[in-house]
Amino acid sequence: MSSNINVKRLNSQDAGFREILLSSLSLPSADDEAIDSAVVKILAAVKDKGDEAVLGFTKQFDRLNVASVSELEIPRKDLEQAYLSLSAEQKNALDVAAQRVRAYHEKQKIEAGCHSWEYEEKDGTRLGQKVTPLDRVGIYVPGGKAAYPSSVLMNAIPAKVAGVAEVIMVVPTPDGARNPLVLAAAYLAGVDRVFTIGGAQAVGALAYGTKTIPSVDKIVGPGNAYVAAAKRRVFGIVGIDMIAGPSEILVLCDGSTNPDWVAMDLFSQAEHDEQAQSILLCPDAAYIEQVQASINKLLPEMPRAKVIEASLTNRAQLIQVKDMAEACEIANAIAAEHLEICATDPRKWADQIRHAGAIFMGNYTSESLGDYCAGPNHVLPTARTARFSSPLGVYDFIKRSSMIEVSEAGAQTLGEVASTLAHGEGLQAHARAAEMRLKK
Ligand code: NAD
Repeated sequence: MSSNINVKRLNSQDAGFREILLSSLSLPSADDEAIDSAVVKILAAVKDKGDEAVLGFTKQFDRLNVASVSELEIPRKDLEQAYLSLSAEQKNALDVAAQRVRAYHEKQKIEAGCHSWEYEEKDGTRLGQKVTPLDRVGIYVPGGKAAYPSSVLMNAIPAKVAGVAEVIMVVPTPDGARNPLVLAAAYLAGVDRVFTIGGAQAVGALAYGTKTIPSVDKIVGPGNAYVAAAKRRVFGIVGIDMIAGPSEILVLCDGSTNPDWVAMDLFSQAEHDEQAQSILLCPDAAYIEQVQASINKLLPEMPRAKVIEASLTNRAQLIQVKDMAEACEIANAIAAEHLEICATDPRKWADQIRHAGAIFMGNYTSESLGDYCAGPNHVLPTARTARFSSPLGVYDFIKRSSMIEVSEAGAQTLGEVASTLAHGEGLQAHARAAEMRLKK
């Protein structure tokens, strides 16, 4: 049996191609007015009524009716128990994924400027930056429609590697159904406290704090449109990582890869939800036909065929390009969350990529390996935000303070400069503070 969906085709040589392409790309979520106004009300109630509001919304949206928020906290011994209750195969898979994600982020901490530094000028003035981890971080783990143990690892491990003292996790458990893999991942990642709450009320509780739930300094992690809108609303009171939109995959292919592999990689993001976007860029028209045939052949085998079909019909595109160099140029304009380069010489093309959340090179690097266990973070910028932002990393859980120690000699030269500029700005106290330190 095969399906007969026809994925939308484009050709880079068609008139108006760039405009058509860019207008079809994902938009950031959290810009739906109805959702935003519902979220404003939820946040105001949580700010005003604290635990009482959290309990009410948890009953309303997750059908979980308890008398106090402390009943919604899962003690650490239960997290350990969840880990111990896993099958040997699941335990091993989670262990390997956690070790690899930790090793990658430990390396990142060293390589990505997550450490303090200082230098000394000739007159003895010392300048530098002091790096400190955040004190307390909240991680949102989605749980409305599916469970995501991999998201627990990807959000909590970099925080712990950065040295965050306290990681508070929130995860909704509709009808009270707790996912053992999610709890086991929290145990392995070293999460300090877990509350089974979700949606905008969980984001509000972490931002404002309630009697039972401590306020945090930053909230990270993906979630649905309510979560995204709430994160946008509390930004400024707390830090946030990013506003995540629907998943995207862009495959650049020179036609040398098994088309079934490419079709399945396109499915792997399409199966997330109906608004996910999968795009293929390829210079070979005959190969594009083969990928289309693979899509129709493989789709009926997929348990999530309905979601994949909706996503491919709504958002996918098979695009014929002039050559691989042009494919790279178009990929830079798209700035995809996940970029796969399926080609005989992937590094040659990767050198030409400037904008992508993650770059998967070569025929053996399926994007799904990156989702779970390759090591790099799977929380990535979506909706073209890879033009200006980066994957979640250790650097999201640290901050920097400037360090300035001016010597007596340094105060003489800098004092003259500061005094002149301060007078120019009409700030007399600034000028005098510098002048008082000048040796007359
Ligand atoms: P979720 O935890 O994000 O949302 C569930 C919560 O939404 C509920 O607890 C409830 O409080 C709130 N909610 C639902 N309907 C509401 C309503 N009508 N009014 C107010 N609040 C309401 O779980 P989800 O819904 O399964 O969504 C998870 C999302 O996260 C998906 O879009 C998925 O694709 C995404 N995701 C992204 C990544 C990533 O790394 N980018 C990873 C995993 C999941």
